[in-house]
Amino acid sequence: MIISKFISNKNDTLLNAMEVINNNKHGVTFVVNNENKLCGVITDGDIRRALLNNHKLDEKIENILKNRFIYAYDDETYEELLVKKENKNRTIPIVNRDMEVVNFFEFKQKLYFPVAEPNLEGNEYKYLNDAFLSSWISSSGEYINKFEKEFSKYIGTKYGVATSNGTTALSLALAALDIKDGDEVILPDFTFAATINTVIHLNAKPVIVDIEKESWCIDPIEIEKAITPKTKAIIPVHIYGQPCNMEKIMDIAEKHNLFVIEDCAQAHGAKYGDKKIGSFGHISCFSFFGNKVITTGEGGMCLTDSEELDEKMRVLRDHGMSKTKRYWHEVVGYNFRMTNLQAAIGVAQLERIDTILENRKKYEQAYKNTLKEFNYITYQKSNLENREKITWLASILVDTPINRDALIVELKEIGIDARPFFYPLSVMEIYKDYLFSNKNSIELSKKGLNLPTYASLYKLDKIVENLEKVVENLEKK
Ligand SMILES: *Cc1c(COP(=O)(O)O)cnc(C)c1O
Repeated sequence: MIISKFISNKNDTLLNAMEVINNNKHGVTFVVNNENKLCGVITDGDIRRALLNNHKLDEKIENILKNRFIYAYDDETYEELLVKKENKNRTIPIVNRDMEVVNFFEFKQKLYFPVAEPNLEGNEYKYLNDAFLSSWISSSGEYINKFEKEFSKYIGTKYGVATSNGTTALSLALAALDIKDGDEVILPDFTFAATINTVIHLNAKPVIVDIEKESWCIDPIEIEKAITPKTKAIIPVHIYGQPCNMEKIMDIAEKHNLFVIEDCAQAHGAKYGDKKIGSFGHISCFSFFGNKVITTGEGGMCLTDSEELDEKMRVLRDHGMSKTKRYWHEVVGYNFRMTNLQAAIGVAQLERIDTILENRKKYEQAYKNTLKEFNYITYQKSNLENREKITWLASILVDTPINRDALIVELKEIGIDARPFFYPLSVMEIYKDYLFSNKNSIELSKKGLNLPTYASLYKLDKIVENLEKVVENLEKK
């Protein structure tokens, strides 16, 4: 950015100043006198306030200059600059000792607390390096076998087929179950779009049903109502770490002869009864995206107890190529393979999954403790019969007098990244024709937000402290 783009003369008009501000897109102009020395700093907010105080656009900038303004010298240290940042000015002119503007310094609002961040402090680097040095960096290698074996063992299934991501895991599962044109697949209104997109890509028809008010998961009563002779499968999604009612869902599936594909992308380690979710459905799909419970960067896995489905998925994952006759294709397949590099990271993550889950839970508990006096903030239920949820991203529901979106904005201001809940699928133009029922999902989506939740605890105190302040202030507004 050329510094002249920031400069206006004190004898220019306010309109001129607005033009300068508009052109440099930094919301500020540095005002100089006739000797070209800095004599003020004007922001777009200053001009707005001046106009509201009856100043006119053709008045000289000089008329609204303040005596005091923030600037820095070009021989100041970075630390000295940081002190000036406290004054809230985002863009500060830098002058030489003759007060001539030579540069500017911008304090970019840095998100110190992203909503999620991977934690790679175990053996991740060691194994990744090992895979790299072995030169098995593509989609064969020991780490893939190991990751498939250990993850399926952790969840409690016989087989695991690693994929390039969680979405391709869903696509692979649907393809292996031969879901196709004309088939109906029942899924919840409240989920991430990957769940429904994969169904649509196969030309099958998604049927969107409502969630349970308490658990936020697909409602078995609605599933049963939505079943038609064309229904082939159900995709329960264990949303935000909460297990679906797997007993009821498996009963319904059995009664109507339907497949169940569990979408476990957000619930690694959650339990229904004494079994982990992901061990109930015909196939279950996990994601290891960077913000999930454990990560491989991008990555996913399909789990099953069926030898036949395992075999089918391995073939489909690898272009549909025959396992015994190279370059011979009997089905139209995909390339959905995971690399050995990803799997190496996955193996290391899995070694620490118990600690990771414990730490994530501590975020949720700390948020509950901190916000307990604000009774209009509520939580996902953690005591539902038979269900043992995990914490993926701690979720809260915000009700009046506080506005959810206002809270998100205020938190962003101080560097805490909070995310609104998913929109219900059924409110989006591209999905609305698939709606069966959505009442609870609409209600929930408006109120919810996810707060930062990490696998390590080192930022927790700081987040909690700031969160409490922000909520208190909002309440007073
Ligand atoms: C993340 C996610 C997926 C997709 O996983 P990717 O690895 O991002 O492709 C699918 N379903 C749900 C519910 C998810 O949260």
